Parts: sequence; C-alpha cells; structure tokens
Amino acid sequence: MNTDVLVIGTGISGLSYAIKLSKLSPTTKITLICKEDLMEGNTRYAQGGIAAVYNFEKDSFKKHIEDTYIAGDSEGDLDVIDFVVKEGTDRVNELMQWGTAFDTKKTKEFDLVREGGHSENRILHYKDHSGSEIQRALINKVKAIDTIEYLENHILVDLITDHHTKTEHKRCYGAYIISTLDQEIITIASKLTIVTTGGVGQLYEFTTNPRVATGDGLGAAYRAKVKIKNLPYIQFHPTALHPKINGDTFLITEAVRGSGGVLKNLSGEQFMSNYDARKELAPRDIVSRAIAEELLSRKENHVLLDATGIEKDEFLSHFPMIHETCISIGIDPMKEGIPVVPAAHYSCGGIEVDSNGESSLKGLFAIGECSHTGLHGANRLASNSLLEAIVYAHRAAVFSANSLNKPILDNSFYNNIPDWDGQEYSSDLKLDKTQKLFSNLQQIMSEKAGIFKTNKGLKEASIELNLLYTETLDLYQKNKLTPQLCELRNMVSVAYLLINQALEIKENKGVFYNNDYA
Ligand SMILES: Cc1cc2nc3c(=O)[nH]c(=O)nc-3n(C[C@H](O)[C@H](O)[C@H](O)COP(=O)(O)OP(=O)(O)OC[C@H]3O[C@@H](n4cnc5c(N)ncnc54)[C@H](O)[C@@H]3O)c2cc1C
Repeated sequence: MNTDVLVIGTGISGLSYAIKLSKLSPTTKITLICKEDLMEGNTRYAQGGIAAVYNFEKDSFKKHIEDTYIAGDSEGDLDVIDFVVKEGTDRVNELMQWGTAFDTKKTKEFDLVREGGHSENRILHYKDHSGSEIQRALINKVKAIDTIEYLENHILVDLITDHHTKTEHKRCYGAYIISTLDQEIITIASKLTIVTTGGVGQLYEFTTNPRVATGDGLGAAYRAKVKIKNLPYIQFHPTALHPKINGDTFLITEAVRGSGGVLKNLSGEQFMSNYDARKELAPRDIVSRAIAEELLSRKENHVLLDATGIEKDEFLSHFPMIHETCISIGIDPMKEGIPVVPAAHYSCGGIEVDSNGESSLKGLFAIGECSHTGLHGANRLASNSLLEAIVYAHRAAVFSANSLNKPILDNSFYNNIPDWDGQEYSSDLKLDKTQKLFSNLQQIMSEKAGIFKTNKGLKEASIELNLLYTETLDLYQKNKLTPQLCELRNMVSVAYLLINQALEIKENKGVFYNNDYA
C-alpha cells in the first residue's frame, strides 16, 4: 500500500496533524492507523483539560512560561516553552473551530480553572471529560475529509528504514503493520511517517493509561536507531482509584484536591502536612512520593481521598464521571473516603524531535506524548501535554506540507519496498506466555523503577530485563508474529532503555527520584 503520509496513532496528536495537513495540502493522501478504534488512547481519558492563556487581564504568556519552566525543575528548553505557550492560544481556538466545546460561565467567558503548579486560572475544560470531547470533535472532522483514510485495529510492527531497503538514503520510508483481526502483515510505504503512539504507562502495574499505551512507537524508533531522550522522567499521578476496575485503573483528577478533598491514611489521619507546607496542593511528584512513603511505612495498599467536605452539588456538577465510577464499585464519595494509589501517568521523555517535530531520522516525525520536545523538562506542568500535542501537530503539518512540495525520492523507490520478511516459525505462541512475560515486566518496573529508585534496584532490573529480552527474542524468532508479541517486544526494549538511562542520571530532578541521591 502506498500513501503520501502515514500517521501512526489517532489521539489528539495524530488527528489534529492530519486535519491541519489536509487543509494545507488538499491533494496529499494521508493514512491513519490505530491499535483499536479511533477513540482509544490516552487523549480520551484526559479529565482536567488544556492549559492556555485566555484571561489576558490577569494572566500572561510570561506567567505560563515561568510556571512551565519551574514545574520542569529548570530543565525545560526555554525556546520551546516560549513558542508552545505563545502559539497555544491560537491552536486551542482552532480546536474549537473544529468542533470542540469548552465550559463557559454564565457571562459566556471561559470557565478557566487552576491546577497544581499554575499561578493563574488557565485550564479550559469540558466538565471532567475534556479529552473525550476533544476526541469526539476531531474524529468527526477527520471522517468528513476525503483525503484522509483510516485503518482501525492495525498495529505498527516496525518502521521501514535503509536496513529493509538495503539503501543509504538515511530516511524512514513507512512502516510494516499487522492487522489485529487476521494477523496479516502489510507494508505501507510513505514519504513521511508520523509516530503519535502516546504513552508508556503499561510498563507499570498501576497506570492511568489504557492498554494501548505500550510504548510501541518508542520501541520501533529504538530499533530504527532513532534518538530517544529522558525516558526515566515518568510522572506518577498521586490519585488513581484502587482497586482496578476490569483490570484498568481509573484516575481521580487533582481538581478534587483543588476543591477541598484531603488525603488520609487508613487510620483516618491527614498526613500531607508532614511532607509539604502546601499539603494536598503540593506538586504531583511531592504528593505521589508522600503517598508512596505512607504506604511503605504503614504497609498498607492504599490511602483515602476524603471528598466529603465538598458540597454535593459542586461535586456532582464538576466530577460527574468520578461520582458515577465510584458508585459503580460501591463507594459513595459524599459519605466515605475514595481509596487511591499513585499510578504511572505521563512520559515526559520520548523520541527526540526538533521544533518541527522531526526526529533524528529524516522523514520520521514524532508528536505528542511519545515525543521529547524539551517542553516539560524534568516534570510536566498539569494540562500542558494536550497543548504540546496541538502546537507540534501544527508545526509538523506546516513543515510536512513544504517538504512534500519538494522532490523526496522517486515513486518507483516506494513501489519497490520489500514486504515484511516473515520468518519461518516452529511453534505456535500461546497468549498466556506473552501475558506472563508482560506481568513479569510490569512487576520489575513497579518494584525497581517506580516512584522510589535505588542504583542497586536499577542494576538488578537491568539484569532481569536482559533475561526477559532474551526470552522475548526467542519467542519472536520461533513464533508467528502476533500483536501481543509486538507489544511485548516494544515494552521490553523501552523498559531496558529507561532503566539504563536512569542509571546515568546522577541527581534527583523533577519526577526522577533515586534514594541514593536524596
Ligand atoms: C487519565 C489521563 C488523564 C489525563 N489528563 C490530562 C489533562 O487533563 N490534560 C493534559 O494536557 N493531559 C492529560 N493527560 C495526558 C494526555 O491525555 C496525553 O498525553 C495525550 O492525550 C497524548 O495524546 P497523543 O495523541 O500523543 O496519544 P494518545 O491519545 O495516547 O493516542 C495514541 C494513539 O496511538 C495508537 N497506537 C499506539 N500504539 C500503536 C501501534 N503500535 N500501532 C498503531 N497505533 C498505535 C493508539 O491506538 C492511539 O490511537 C492525561 C492522561 C491520562 C491517561
């Protein structure tokens, strides 16, 4: 299959890139692929909203820039922070032109709210499900554009590079893709390839990320020798509902703490004042570490988020989905504490890209959570990730439109890309085998590369992951390729890279915490 541009992933990054490129370059053929349906990915679960400067009387770009830089523990790239914040307002306006709704007050002004680390109210939101509103609008828009086609239930296997074509153009030429329905592997040749595969939360036992978040884009980029940066900067969200529901972890937004929810241990004692003067409103990394410390010292498996002090009407109007979810598992948040644990939430690092979203391999772009732009530094400011995605989607689309106007390689080159070299396989892989290795990996990462790390633990994890890698490689060489095996292969590579990058970090910064440097 040939296309001009292949976009791998259909969250806010992939969809907004495709919409923008189709406007700039109306004859360009764009192919989107996604693992499950168009809706599934981290974007649809975003609750808080999107940060942008709208109230110019009180707020300013300067304040948002400062807040972002401070949250990132002074590790962010100031040039990147500057343009993301300044271009952000126009991009959010575009989201609205494309059909996204954000809550307004009776005065018709936006109902801007504040989250941890922001010095002003600047989060636009749609109730407590901003992400699904954005996805809904973008999907509708994409479906109405003739030049965009999409393939659901298709998974990236590998990026096509000189290694496959036996050439030396030093570019990316598309990707091999497996269908989850019939497990057929197809070749999609493309002039430009855009990876927007989202987060890596599934590396951990508790994560707010959905099951599709297995770091596939990163795994494929790693195999293609593309530069990847800052993987150990994983942000843990302090409050995910415990236990899981049908195997998935549900996020309780920090806005609940912002509205007066307090954290208590199982003896009913508030504990945040022992850790930080800002108590429940301290930054996420501090609250997550405080909860983790309480759990370790008290040998308990969750703490309680007590929201009973919030007026019922206020809770129901701001947090309808949280209320409904708690009730569905027999917890009434208006009468009792909500059981919560910290959970892996956001990857601040990823595929290193320039200011147009292009990676170290020409023709390969990364946008959104799978990328490392320099915006977040060592810690992401709440609600800045959706913003980063739309700003970089725009920039990458403008750059792509210009690139496509110039000759890249002859069409004959793309027509002659070899198909996937399917190995002979000798045994039939059982699903429970990959699941077992998947669980092993989550356990290693949760125990040794979670909120608290030590050099000893990281070294042990590196050895254990090496063994897991050998086992996975063995499965990969002997068995027919399956979507689960693709995911496992990616997760093991990403975990291994994360651990080895973590061993190179010699000081605690932002979300990264190694007890040996405390
Ligand atoms: C619970 C939760 C709440 C959040 N709240 C906020 C918030 O309030 N504000 C904020 O700014 N950020 C928030 N975030 C973070 C933010 O939602 C994400 O960073 C952002 O949505 C990522 O968008 P994306 O387009 O990069 O990736 P995603 O939306 O994750 O999309 C990834 C896409 O890639 C596809 N994909 C993955 N692997 C493959 C593969 N191998 N082959 C093909 N397709 C693949 C998936 O199917 C999906 O379509 C939250 C995240 C979570 C999980």
